[in-house]
Amino acid sequence: MYSRYVKTEAIVLNSVQFGEGHNIINLFTESYGKVEASAFGVRKTKSRFGSTLEPFTISHFLLYHKSEDSLFTIKDVNVHSHNNSISEDFQKFIVGNSLIEPVILFVEKGQADRNLYRLLSDALKVLNEIITNKSIYLLSMYDIKFLSIMGYSPNISMCKKCGDHLNDKESYMDHYYGFPICERCKTGSSVQIYTGTLRFIEWVDTNSIAYSKKVTMEKPTLDNIRSVIEQLYLHTFHKKPQSWKQLNSY
Ligand SMILES: [Zn+2]
Repeated sequence: MYSRYVKTEAIVLNSVQFGEGHNIINLFTESYGKVEASAFGVRKTKSRFGSTLEPFTISHFLLYHKSEDSLFTIKDVNVHSHNNSISEDFQKFIVGNSLIEPVILFVEKGQADRNLYRLLSDALKVLNEIITNKSIYLLSMYDIKFLSIMGYSPNISMCKKCGDHLNDKESYMDHYYGFPICERCKTGSSVQIYTGTLRFIEWVDTNSIAYSKKVTMEKPTLDNIRSVIEQLYLHTFHKKPQSWKQLNSY
């Protein structure tokens, strides 16, 4: 049912300056999916919104729109989690951008998905608290869960090309066939999947993102997990998030 005023919890994805004195805020809402909402007077020094419309903030919003297809205006904001420590730490900031960017790039506007909403809001809350050097594990768990909610959760025991049963030692993948493929089906551009990577992917499936705090692994396994995730994004969306370019320092 259409209503001029709507209440929803939402995550601020980003904020874009638009004309004189107002910004367009890109929100990922729990009830309505991604929406754009205008906020008037946000650039005034004594804006009534203060810092509530900064990226990574999770709040309860009161939004108004005149008709069903007109733009929302932000009427009121009640902050739930500021997640301040993400913007104060450069590495966390890059990871935070890498959590948000797939939602900006790959989620359809206006398509509500509570599982996806919970995933991003939980990930931001955990990122806010976690020690910096664990944040790359959090991102990797997030990416695997994000791909799975978006419809990519492969059967890791069967070759996608020929259907043969796979054992851990001979798994490969590429952005064309996806994941996993067997030794006989691999091509020159295929990436080998380590046993540790397969175990991590299985483990992520049944564990909450808060467990990223407890993850430890060797650098080669982490590098392999990141390259498998990269191939999965390329396979599924033909594109990968730009924020990853700055992740190199992990
Ligand atoms: Zn095969």
